[in-house]
This record gives sequence, C-alpha cells and structure tokens, in this order.
Amino acid sequence: GGLIVAYGELLIDFVPTVAGVSLAEAPAFKKAPGGAPANVAVCVSRLGGNAAFIGKVGDDEFGHMLADVLMSNKVDVEGLRFDSNARTALAFVTLRSDGEREFMFFRNPSADMLMVPSELDEDLIRRSSTFHYGSISLISEPSRSTQCAAMKLARESGSLMSYDVNLRLALWPSPEAAHEGIMSIWDQADLIKVSDEEVKFLTKGGNDKLDEVVLSLWRPNLKLLLVTDGPDGCRYYTRGFKGRVMSFKVDAVDTTGAGDAFVGGLLHILAKNKGLLDDEIALRSALQFACACGAITTTGKGAIPSMPDRKAVLKLIGVTTI
Ligand code: ATP
Repeated sequence: GGLIVAYGELLIDFVPTVAGVSLAEAPAFKKAPGGAPANVAVCVSRLGGNAAFIGKVGDDEFGHMLADVLMSNKVDVEGLRFDSNARTALAFVTLRSDGEREFMFFRNPSADMLMVPSELDEDLIRRSSTFHYGSISLISEPSRSTQCAAMKLARESGSLMSYDVNLRLALWPSPEAAHEGIMSIWDQADLIKVSDEEVKFLTKGGNDKLDEVVLSLWRPNLKLLLVTDGPDGCRYYTRGFKGRVMSFKVDAVDTTGAGDAFVGGLLHILAKNKGLLDDEIALRSALQFACACGAITTTGKGAIPSMPDRKAVLKLIGVTTI
C-alpha cells in the first residue's frame, strides 16, 4: 500500500490513575501519548501499513519521548520538528463518572501551534498517497497557514485527502469561530469522518431526520462521508449509495482513540484499493475492518497502547484474510 501521512498535533495526555473522577478529584495522573493524527499513524503502522507523521513538539523531554513512541511503532518521523522556544503541548483529560470528558489544555503557546510553512517536509508530503488531518491546527496562526500549505501541496500531488474533524470546542475562541474554522476546509476533502455529536454541532440540527441533516454536509467533490456512532458503528454516504455498518460487541473499558483507530483501519485498507470507494460491497467490508479496529481499541486503557494489530482485527471479524 501507499504512504499515509498524518498531519497535526502530538501531545502528552495526563490521565487520572483512578477512573470516574473529575480533574480536581484526581489523586494522581499518568502520562499517555496523545494527538488524534498521531494515533491514526500508529494504528496504520500496527496494521502493517506505511505511515509517517508531520507536526511539531518541544525540544524537551516530553517531545523526545513522543518521538520515541512513534519510532518504536515504526512511524516515520522525518517530518517531525522540535521547537527550542516552546514546550510540547499538554492536556489533562478525564472521563468523569457522568460519562462526560473533561479537558484542561496547556498551550500558551505550545510547539505544535508554532509550526511554520518552512518547517514542512515537502518531499514527504509529495510522496504521500493519503494525507490525513484534523482541525486543531486551524485554531490559530501560524499553524493554520502551515496546515493550509501542507494540504495544498498534498492535493496538488494527487493524495487522497482525509479529514477527521475532531471538535475541541474549548480550544476555539468561540463556537462560531469553531464552526467557521472547521467548515473552511470542508470542500478540500475526499473523505470526511465526523462523530454523531460533531454532526449536531456542525448542522445545528436535531437527530430526528438525521439523513437530511447529514446531507447538508455533503459536497459534490466529496467521495465518502462517515458518521461514527460508538457501538452502533458508522453510517456511510457516497455519491452512489449510503448505509450503516454495525460495530462488534466488546467489553469496552476506555473509548479513547476509538475514532482514530477506526480512521487508521479504513485508511490502511483504502491505501491498498482506492477503487473501493465506488464499490459498496468492498466499502462495507473495509468499514467492518475499521469498526473492528475501533472496537478493539476500547478494550484497553489509552489510545496508543490498545491500537490493534492485523491478527486481532481478523480474529474479531472472524475471517483469515482481507
Ligand atoms: P473518540 O472517542 O476517539 O473521540 P469518536 O467519537 O470519533 O471517538 P466513536 O464513534 O466513539 O468515534 O468510535 C469510533 C468507532 O469505534 C465506532 O464507529 C465503532 O466502530 C468503534 N467503537 C467505539 N466504541 C465502541 C464500543 N463501545 N463497542 C464497539 N465498537 C466501538
């Protein structure tokens, strides 16, 4: 398969050592590698694919620790930069007992926010067959212009453009700015993945006529729109067909990274066969593979430690080859 380049944030998540507490109640925190695009790159690599990461961390112990994590997962870090004037981004994250995630970010500003266009590994971007990105780097300058420059280069090089929205409302100056920023690059994607909650935010709509709401996010150039929905798997929309693929029943302990594993699984299969975007049977089997990746990731704590390998996915799906 071709090279999958994931672009964006790479940071340290501090997660409470006990479950179901608020950040204030947490007695202690354990550090975990985080950042949605980095999780996607690790997932692709675990599955046996070819993945690279582009972004910036601080030239500090945490930044180098994150680089080591990517390298030990065989993710190409040629495009990773180290900033000697800004720290690696930190986030304290907890899943409270009421099921809500609580975040506290330390980015004032962090290294990832300060990436400039001259730091882009243009050759790596040109070599990508898939370019995957989110919306966190769009929040402020100069990282916004840098992401736009990287996307332009990837598009001109013929990469498949993959967008996982990843709404983090608290990081944007206002909900309006978040809406505008996220939608500002909507037209450039071949493939967009949103969660159920993100659809609600982006369309300001209820859930009653979901298909109509989702179709307001459709664009003529889009090849695939995916809405993920936890254990209920995902809905898919293409020019020619739409439907749902259910996920697999597992004992979920921590859903962190499920969406990223889902994307990683899909991009991995797509890298081998882009034609499946026009073939519903093939697409459904790729989405089944993606759902299995998401499901497996929920069975262990943290995102990167519980990313699946190919064997685990095939076992859950119940086939020996795909
Ligand atoms: P994240 O928690 O990483 O932000 P997300 O909201 O982007 O995730 P989800 O819908 O939670 O995405 O999960 C992505 C995919 O992972 C789902 O489409 C499903 O296939 C799988 N998945 C998630 N949670 C479960 C679960 N409890 N049981 C089975 N499969 C799951």
